[in-house]
Amino acid sequence: MSIVEAIAITVLGLIIGMGVNHLSSVLPYLRSGSLIHHPICLWCHNTISWRTFVFLAQCSRCHRYPRLRIWLVLLGYPVLLWVLRLIPASRINWWLGVITLAYFGLVAVMDFEHRIILNPISITGAILGLGTGWYLHGLPKTLLGGIAGYATMFILYYLGIAFSRLVTKMRNQPLDEVALGFGDVNLGGVLGLYLGWPGITAGLLLAIILGGSFSLFVILYRLITHKYQMFMAIPYAPFLLLGATLLLFRP
Ligand SMILES: [Zn+2]
Repeated sequence: MSIVEAIAITVLGLIIGMGVNHLSSVLPYLRSGSLIHHPICLWCHNTISWRTFVFLAQCSRCHRYPRLRIWLVLLGYPVLLWVLRLIPASRINWWLGVITLAYFGLVAVMDFEHRIILNPISITGAILGLGTGWYLHGLPKTLLGGIAGYATMFILYYLGIAFSRLVTKMRNQPLDEVALGFGDVNLGGVLGLYLGWPGITAGLLLAIILGGSFSLFVILYRLITHKYQMFMAIPYAPFLLLGATLLLFRP
């Protein structure tokens, strides 16, 4: 790898990191109708200048430095792109890989922080997934994968609702949060397009194994620290995305 290429990859990673940081901070607030174009401080939610955002300076209102997430995303993308360059994926090419990583990261960050997958994000994902899947597996397998992913998550979503109703009845007390949101169903469809048929079956299985292991770890940790509560909600989208990433980017 030449020095020029190394610098170019690092700069591209930083630009994508900034884009993901900005969009994931701003998009959840666009729903209220007030269009926020300026970046916002994740501590006090006031708008900050582009200069403050780009140079990771202190917020002029609350005088705090950017949150950990901003740093992780900003530094994480150059690392991810370096890994992709050094260990190229066998199926997905470089630019398709870069776009996919940018989109997956955006969805994962927003789901972690807000537990939502906005409809415009799902629609964008459907377009990206259709294009990528078509390129990788051809149209029929891509569409079949999309339908399978959506249908599976749709069934799990309604099973989740039925389960929470049952628990509510038994405990006479409603659950605070449902396990799956409808955004997860849409994401199932999007990842189905990306992975195609039968790839999506492996993707969902991997997500269940990853999410299940993580849940078990959290439960054990809480049992040890005596903070255990039944039916804790765990975000599932990051595990769906991680499973799909491992499959799409395998060397
Ligand atoms: Zn602030």
